[in-house]
Amino acid sequence: MSANPQREFALDIVRQLRAASFEALWAGGCVRDQLLGREPQDYDVATNARPEEIQKLFGQRRTLAIGAAFGVISVLNKNSGPVEVATFRSDGAYLDGRHPSSVVYTTAEHDAQRRDFTINGMFFDPLEERVIDYVGGQADLAAGVIRAIGDPAARFTEDKLRMLRAARFATTFDFTIEPVTLAAIQSMAAEVTVVSAERIGAELTRLFTHPRRREGLQLLQESGLLPPLFPELVDAARNNSDVWSKALQTLERLESENLSTALSALFVGLPKPAEVAAAGRRFRLSNKEIDLAAWLVKQLPRIDVAEQLFWPQLQRILPHESAGELMALARAALGDKHAGLLGCQVLLALPSERLNPPPLLTGDDLVRHGYRPGPHFARLLTAIRDAQLEGQIRDQAEALQLAEQLIQDQDIDHKGTKDTKKEK
Ligand code: ATP
Ligand code: MG
Repeated sequence: MSANPQREFALDIVRQLRAASFEALWAGGCVRDQLLGREPQDYDVATNARPEEIQKLFGQRRTLAIGAAFGVISVLNKNSGPVEVATFRSDGAYLDGRHPSSVVYTTAEHDAQRRDFTINGMFFDPLEERVIDYVGGQADLAAGVIRAIGDPAARFTEDKLRMLRAARFATTFDFTIEPVTLAAIQSMAAEVTVVSAERIGAELTRLFTHPRRREGLQLLQESGLLPPLFPELVDAARNNSDVWSKALQTLERLESENLSTALSALFVGLPKPAEVAAAGRRFRLSNKEIDLAAWLVKQLPRIDVAEQLFWPQLQRILPHESAGELMALARAALGDKHAGLLGCQVLLALPSERLNPPPLLTGDDLVRHGYRPGPHFARLLTAIRDAQLEGQIRDQAEALQLAEQLIQDQDIDHKGTKDTKKEK
């Protein structure tokens, strides 16, 4: 078998639970992934041992009881991430569309019933290497179908995030959503917003960083999840407009796996691309992710007209740490033969001393040479930086000469420029 340390650990946990006369099986996503021939991200164990029995067996020091109220104990080990060991359970009533109000410990068969989709509802006995399937998961996996376990409308009423999970699994596995399950999503999609922004953001991140995200966006539209999640795109999508085709095409061509870049691809063709920042905040993305998306949608139009731009303007964009993401977005949105894009790629290949030479003069330099700091400094330094990038000045002496000249000409600031320079 594979040398995956978490797999070994999850196997060892099953052995120990069995040795203590408990039932123990692998459960959920890891069973599915293994049947699909994919390496599972993590292994979950399900057992009839109660949380306190699991803690007693593995010891307080090797366990974490963060999820104990839901019957989940994390068992730690030093070679891999923790393995979650969960007591077979049925969820009590869902009163808020998000969480069960209580849990009841039960059998493996009932535990399968509380899981979301048939493909996620299977168990595997790793000692006998046998799949235990109470929900028809193997048939749906073979047919490529996402099907809710039980009555889809009831299951989505319990936890509305499941609707978005259906779209995410269908997208990333290239599966179809079974018609009754899809119809239930279509009738309840607007309610997805009762779920926490973080859980929604996590699912959307998985969907939009996957190579099949174009199909994912289309599925959000078909399932009715687009309006509650991306109201900005609704008008474009409604009439299958050029803007909508453009968003789909940009996503399709995009080669970056960066979340911010993918999100920008959705917004660049819209009347107000800057709304990408509000969307990022809505899903509680990090400030860094939001700032990058906002920067990308702002810069793309400049790449589009790069040929007509004043060279120092481009030289201020291209040395940015995320220029690679901007180029990926530009290739996807403008096409890889776009003249402005090709020009930028030539510039990006320049040595960094040419693309982004250290400034000849800083504010501190001006102060050191006797200039009194003030709001006019920024404009003065911009003019000097432009002259440097254009090759009009080559060293600090020339830069200081230019500064003096600009001040004399009163080009920089009419108020107080005469006395900008201190009396010597
Ligand atoms: P992946 O980790 O690849 O996203 P996964 O199926 O392992 O997929 P997890 O979120 O790790 O997804 O959940 C583990 C298992 O818990 C699932 O396979 C499923 O059986 C069950 N599960 C997870 N979320 C829900 C939910 N919202 N409703 C019902 N069951 C769920
Ligand atoms: Mg998982």
